[in-house]
Amino acid sequence: MKNLIITGILSISLVSCGGGDKKEKSKMADDLNPLFDSYKEQFIVNLWKVYPGWASSQGYHKYDSVLTVPDAAERINEIDFVKANLDSLKAINIGGLSDNNKTDYHMIENQLQSTIWSLTEEKSWEWNPSVYNISEGFASILNENYDTLPKRLHSFYVKMANIPAYYEAAKANIKNPTIEHTQLAIEQNQGGLSVFDADLNAAMDKAKLKRVEREKFEVRAMQAKKAINDYATWLKNMKNDSPRSFRLGKELYAKKFEYDIQSGYSVDVIYEKALAHKKELHEKMFALADKYWIKYFDKTPKPADKLEEIKKVIDKISETHVKPEEFQSAISEQLPVLIKFIKDKDLIYIDPSKPLVVRKEPGYMAGVAGASISAPGPYDKNGNTYYNVGSLEGMPKDKAESYLREYNKYILQILNIHEAIPGHYTQLVYSNQSPSLIKSLFGNNAMIEGWAVYTERMMLENGYGNNEDEMWLMYYKWNLRSTCNTILDYSVHTKNMSKEEAMHLLIDEAFQEKTEAENKWRRVSVTQVQLCCYFTGYTEIYDFREDLKKQMGDKFNLKKFHEKFLSYGSAPVKYIKDLMLADLKETDK
Ligand code: ZN
Ligand code: ZN
Repeated sequence: MKNLIITGILSISLVSCGGGDKKEKSKMADDLNPLFDSYKEQFIVNLWKVYPGWASSQGYHKYDSVLTVPDAAERINEIDFVKANLDSLKAINIGGLSDNNKTDYHMIENQLQSTIWSLTEEKSWEWNPSVYNISEGFASILNENYDTLPKRLHSFYVKMANIPAYYEAAKANIKNPTIEHTQLAIEQNQGGLSVFDADLNAAMDKAKLKRVEREKFEVRAMQAKKAINDYATWLKNMKNDSPRSFRLGKELYAKKFEYDIQSGYSVDVIYEKALAHKKELHEKMFALADKYWIKYFDKTPKPADKLEEIKKVIDKISETHVKPEEFQSAISEQLPVLIKFIKDKDLIYIDPSKPLVVRKEPGYMAGVAGASISAPGPYDKNGNTYYNVGSLEGMPKDKAESYLREYNKYILQILNIHEAIPGHYTQLVYSNQSPSLIKSLFGNNAMIEGWAVYTERMMLENGYGNNEDEMWLMYYKWNLRSTCNTILDYSVHTKNMSKEEAMHLLIDEAFQEKTEAENKWRRVSVTQVQLCCYFTGYTEIYDFREDLKKQMGDKFNLKKFHEKFLSYGSAPVKYIKDLMLADLKETDK
């Protein structure tokens, strides 16, 4: 289940070659797919040797006991791997590949180029001390039941040996770090100490380790904790008179956007589109709020400020929400309703043989109430896809109330569309039908999130929620969140937006609560570009659909569009678009 199938030793190793001989051979052949499939297998075998920690996190456990020391030699090793593979790709004529392999090709190439850029230009390994943190990798060895506990503990023990060297390398790498990432590194590293303390002890108790064995573990765990604590202390005491800004800056930001989002639009275009979209949403929201003022507030005079008026109506509508004890059942009861709606309206085929398993949120996820999808990893093909539904049990009354207002009757339905049907879960079912390990590993987040955000609007456009104004107004608020995420990220990292300006954008213009806005500020100061993926993907899919409608006229069929679009798996929208347009030309002939 967790082993990669490797079909013997390849007769030609593409990984180590850029030779002209093989280049000619591959260009002569008509069907290059078998060759490329072998290349991909070998690529992943080698990828896991270079990135053992990543392998473990994806459910490939051969290298669980390896902790790579992030020193200069390791970076050279990475660059060598990347360059050899870029050479191999050059030797393959992309024209001779299937659609699935074409997109895989682009995604491998992007991954490799992005690695070089990240190591040599972005260099977060110098300025972001929070990239050095081992606790998660160790914790998952203890928590995940992929093997017997004694075997997992053995990997844990061997892996601990490199911890002191790991943090020594980290200290040698760090130059002029940002204050925000330094702070984050201190918190996160100290937060992970319990893995080598209480968590490890509990696992050793459970495995009934013998005294001698246990002492060996304790020696290494002690060294691990010392290394982590030393690192945190070193960061706290570091002389850092002119720290680097956490703002990425225009040039690096544009490049990172290119690699991470892989959009057909440049980041400047996306920013302009987000600004225009915000304006459009405000106008639509104002029209609805104004219409409903009398219904909700009778003769109370309207606020002079439009945004304030919208806010008041939103607050009023938010009062329509389920009772705390009905939260879980309200979510589960929604799924059949959504499925029926999609069937009746002929929006997309949903394979009934792979149903979504609704479950109460497992203990280790607790605290993130709401709903989320847990999909099996790429090495666990038969695993279930779960819809984790949080419970408000035990939450203080006022907190539960504020939560329920946020996830009110309307937003709860939009959340179900986004997470489950026809959002993330449906997309997942389709992507599993054209299996690609490359897409499971390098899946394009802008496509994945963009699809989920796109379906929210698509459902409403087709009459979901009976076109109720309240539903639309709440949807606009929800959509404003992804739109403002993009504006915020871009403005903070390239236009020097201050925290005050950010708070104004989130609270006054996007109607968010103060806590949510504060959390968002924290997130934008330690991540870059990530917050853009929702709006960018959504915009690309929506624009593409509208273009296609214009081009095809009467021949356009929404159901066919959705099914075709998803059939390419989690590839960047721009490649899906190219392939679909080429396909359309082909059928026109
Ligand atoms: Zn209430
Ligand atoms: Zn999502």
